This record gives sequence, structure tokens and C-alpha cells, in this order.
Amino acid sequence: MNAVTGFGRSSTFVAPVSRVESYIAAHEFAHPTLVIDVDAVERQFRALSAGLVRADGSHAHIHYAVKANPHHAIIERLVALGSGFDAASRGEIELVLGQGADVERVSFGNTIKKASDIRWAHGVGITLFAADAEEELEKLAENAPGARVYIRVIVDNPEADWPLSRKFGCASDKVMTLLGRARDLGLVPYGLSFHVGSQTREARMWTGTLDQVAAIWDRAQDEGFDLQLLNIGGGFPAFYGQEIQAPTSYARAVIDLIEARFSDVPQIMAEPGRGMVAEAGAIAAEVVLVSKKSENDLHRWVYLDIGRFSGLAETEGEAIRYQFVTPRDGDECGPCVLAGPSCDSADVMYEKRPLQLPLSLRAGDRVIIRNCGAYTTTYSSVGFNGFPPLDSVVI
Ligand SMILES: *Cc1c(COP(=O)(O)O)cnc(C)c1O
Repeated sequence: MNAVTGFGRSSTFVAPVSRVESYIAAHEFAHPTLVIDVDAVERQFRALSAGLVRADGSHAHIHYAVKANPHHAIIERLVALGSGFDAASRGEIELVLGQGADVERVSFGNTIKKASDIRWAHGVGITLFAADAEEELEKLAENAPGARVYIRVIVDNPEADWPLSRKFGCASDKVMTLLGRARDLGLVPYGLSFHVGSQTREARMWTGTLDQVAAIWDRAQDEGFDLQLLNIGGGFPAFYGQEIQAPTSYARAVIDLIEARFSDVPQIMAEPGRGMVAEAGAIAAEVVLVSKKSENDLHRWVYLDIGRFSGLAETEGEAIRYQFVTPRDGDECGPCVLAGPSCDSADVMYEKRPLQLPLSLRAGDRVIIRNCGAYTTTYSSVGFNGFPPLDSVVI
């Protein structure tokens, strides 16, 4: 089954499981390449939308988090499907508007914005902004007078596989101050936002976070703020080997948890990034070297032509564990340390928890890395060590 060609190179994959894997199996790639199936993005959008339905039949709005994968073909398809967009910069806003997104459905969701970018965004018609600090509200009041603003709240969340730090958001005791300050500055204190942490594998893991935010929401209503929007951020998971809840059932369960806790929320907005695009893409890569550091080493070292600086940055901390497919799957496996090709000692992907790969694996073998559609191309350096940035093609 393992067709061996040329220099011992094995390139025939046994059983591709998706369109992207079939495409990779049938093509040659000069460099590591992300192959994206935009129809799979559409299916995921529809699956998430089907679950984001409230008890009264209305829908929560999806604002795709552009940073997960800004490929123009993805944006174009999501525009056609009526998606909104969570943009973090002037560049992302220009991208989505350039693809025809409705400016009413684009939010400037970064809490850290330059005054000049706020002024520009206001000028092109963006009216919904995030903030988590007084100074940001002052910038908004000056450069986007009258804008609607939602306050980002820090939540404690030990349950996500890729938790977000305290970099974004403010503690609950500060939220009322900021809502009041926004009102005093002539802005519209419009709602609250949070992020449960990326790759939160099951909806029930949202419970603690939603309890915290609901308490803040109720207090704001009690203090006379007529909040309209609950922005629940991202967190929707992708499959990386550990079981996850399916998208429609996940989204429905999150909505149910919200409706059980929040008294009156006129609008809910969700910002899936990973959960929208990760499973729509796979990377075509190659083994460059298999070696042992000493004669009696227990582990092999497997070096790929892709690493931490060329697209697999999320292997940091080894929390996101990608799935690898090789033409030698089915052969006996053993543990290995997996590393990238660059001359930087930090370019090691899995070492604390070694990866199981076929013992027969050797230089030149092709490798498919599954579910890499999110947070790969944009995390790839421009040309560190002369390695080109991660290529992408859409099928
Ligand atoms: C990154 C980000 C998201 C997307 O998060 P995922 O976990 O990838 O879905 C959503 N909202 C904001 C504000 C973000 O910064």
C-alpha cells in the first residue's frame, strides 16, 4: 500500500478523508501549502447559524473573526452568506469592505486602536467599537463621536485549550465606570463583550463565564444602562484529536445557557474564528530529516519543512495538537520530537508530549496536517531563515 518512489520517498496517501486531503494527495507542492475548501467554510457557517437561534426564533448574528484566516475567498463567500465581520485593524476593515461586506455589519473589535485608525473607520461608516479603558473611550469620543461602544470584560476561564490572557478586557468593578464614562463622553454604551477562550471544546464549559457576565449585565441594567448587545466572542472549537461537540448542537447549547441566565438581551453577536475555518483547511508538508541524537536515544527527531515560524505557531505550549497523516500510516508507530526547519532552537513543536509517528517515516515523505485552516497563514513569518511564508490555495 505504501508506494515507495524515487529516493525512498513515499507519497501515496492511503485514504484521503476530505476534499482538501484528496487535493493534496493528487498534487505536488514546492513549499508547505495550506489548502482551503471554501464550501466547507460555507457548511460550517450554515451549521453554526442553525444553532444560533433564540427561543423567540430570532438569530444571533455571526461576525466572523477575520484574523483566523483573512483569505479573500473566505471573506467573499461569507459576505455572500450574509455574515458580519469582527475586524481588528484598518487593514482588516479595508479587506472586508473591499469584498463587499455591509459596513453596518462590521465591528472594530480590537480594544487597542490608534486614534487615526478610529477616525478613518468612523469616516468609512463603522459605528460599533470595542473598548476596555478610559483612554480608549476618549479616543473614540474624539474620533468617532456618537459611536456605539461595547465594553470588553475579563473572564476567568480555566477550561479553554487556548485561553486568552488578561491583555484584553477590564475587571467587573471597572465596567460600570466605563459605561458611565462612555455616556458622559457622548458615546452610546451599547453592550458587553467577552471571550470564553479559544478552543473551548464543549458548550457546558461556558457556564462559569456566562455566570460572571450575566451578573455584570444585570448590574448595568439596574444602574440604568439600557444595554442592547451581548457579544459572546469566539471559542467555538475545531477537531484536533480530542472530542468536541458538533457545531449546531454546540451553538444551540450556548444560546440556551445564555437565555437561562440573562433577563433581557435584545441582540446577541458571536465572533467565531477557529470554529468557522479550521476544519476547512489542511497543510501539505514534507519530512526533511529523521534522526537520533545518540545511539540509544528513545526518541527520534522528525524535522518538517514547516514549523513554529512558518505557520504552526499555535503549537506554542503544545496545547493545540495537530493531526498528522503520512503515507506510512498503518506501519508500527513510535514517539518522536517534532521540529521545524529553521535554525532557531525555539522551532520545536512537540517535545514535552512526544508525537506518535510511523517508525518507517523518512526524509522526503509527504505529510498532511489536518484542520489547519485557522491561525496558520497569518502566523507565518515573511521569510525567516529564507523559508517562504506559508502558501495557500483555495479549491
Ligand atoms: C480572536 C478573536 C475571536 C475569535 O476567536 P476564536 O476562538 O478563534 O473563535 C473572536 N473575537 C475576538 C474579539 C477575538 O479577538
